[in-house]
Amino acid sequence: MMDRSEIIGRVRKAGVVGAGGAGFPAHVKLNGRCDVVIANMAECEPLLYTNQALILEKAEEVLEGLRLAVQATGAKKGIIALKKKYVECRQAFEEKLKDFEDVEIFELGDFYPAGDEHVLVKEVLGRTIPMAGIPLDVGAVVHNVETLYNIKRACLDELPVTEKYVTVGGAVRHPIVIKVPVGVKFSELLDLAGGPTAEDFMLIDGGPMMGKEVTPDDVVTKTTSSLLVVPAGTLPYSARRIRTDLQLKRARTACCQCRMCTDLCPRYLLGHRLEPHKIMRTVSFGLMDAESLVNSLLCSECGLCEVTCPMGLSPRSINAGLKKVLAEKKVRFSKTEVKAGRPERESRKFSAKKLLVRLGLYDYSRPVERADVKINAREVKILLKQHVGSPAVPTVKVGDKVNKNDVVAKVPEGQLGADVHASIDGTVVRVDENSIVVKSE
Ligand code: SF4
Ligand code: SF4
Repeated sequence: MMDRSEIIGRVRKAGVVGAGGAGFPAHVKLNGRCDVVIANMAECEPLLYTNQALILEKAEEVLEGLRLAVQATGAKKGIIALKKKYVECRQAFEEKLKDFEDVEIFELGDFYPAGDEHVLVKEVLGRTIPMAGIPLDVGAVVHNVETLYNIKRACLDELPVTEKYVTVGGAVRHPIVIKVPVGVKFSELLDLAGGPTAEDFMLIDGGPMMGKEVTPDDVVTKTTSSLLVVPAGTLPYSARRIRTDLQLKRARTACCQCRMCTDLCPRYLLGHRLEPHKIMRTVSFGLMDAESLVNSLLCSECGLCEVTCPMGLSPRSINAGLKKVLAEKKVRFSKTEVKAGRPERESRKFSAKKLLVRLGLYDYSRPVERADVKINAREVKILLKQHVGSPAVPTVKVGDKVNKNDVVAKVPEGQLGADVHASIDGTVVRVDENSIVVKSE
């Protein structure tokens, strides 16, 4: 059995970061002590099939990664939290579970955002993470299933993270899930999915709720879970087109204080002090009530309030703007225990199907093929910051020959971050403050 420091060392060396979120370095999470590790297989954003495709191929490797995470953290067990509707994924796990005695399966309902760490821990363990806290505060560590797959590869195969499973979906001819080298352009992924079927569209890296708008020239990173083509006329499209200053103006004139945004807010329902309707009132009337504004730091930016507001307003983007201002002023929300959850939480969970309809994306929810296509990328642009923390510092220069898996940039000792590696064989043709470009021969 591999010892704790060896696991953490190998995961760090391989540059493993959270594959499904902001990219928190995995070796830091493994360094905590907890009693349970949860494998997050909620995949709750609409139109994403990345984790489901991964499990159908690599269930055993994910279980091995979970076992390594359990060993590193000293946990008593691992729990795979997956939606009840992922029947084939459950079967894929069950076929291998006999070799993994300390692993259980927990079935989640089909609601959004089941994969939010605060919501997930409440569902699986019944524990409430403090406001502004993390799962470790209640004895848990949560890893996305692809992160666990990468932990297994780092520890048992000594391979760094240079590839990513990605759903290419939405308004494309042939929605697919493919494994691609980190650093390939999104335009190449679009071509593999047969191109867009809409004339006016937006590209989103991630899910329609929390993903960010990108261009065809942007590239896949270690955290890219999907590339979605979102047509004009859908809610994710229009919400990203309205500027925050206009949102504020609209809030002043249109917010009727119905408090629907608060009543359905997942963090409010957990018992957090986040009440988006009060924040809307505060900012729209210029009442700079510091307490209400600080509470915006509790917003996960899940976007549910934007979907449910009858006036088409976006408390989420107001909160996101406030969070930036508060971060600049170095205002923090101190970790605070939640006194009690809201008893209505269970009945107010927002169904995933209803979400698809409200977003205008129901017609794009169709079976997605796992395409076993090998991309022969001629050029990759490897970003130096694909993770939470400091950017990696290049260790190569223009003209250097590199092989796939070679380290090309390292995070300075003692700083939070993750090393990055070449995802193809080739020559370094550009190095700047943001990226390293490698061209194949
Ligand atoms: S749901 Fe919309 S209209 Fe109602 S309180 Fe919230 S922001 Fe205002
Ligand atoms: S985005 Fe809206 S619903 Fe989601 S946590 Fe923030 S305030 Fe609540």
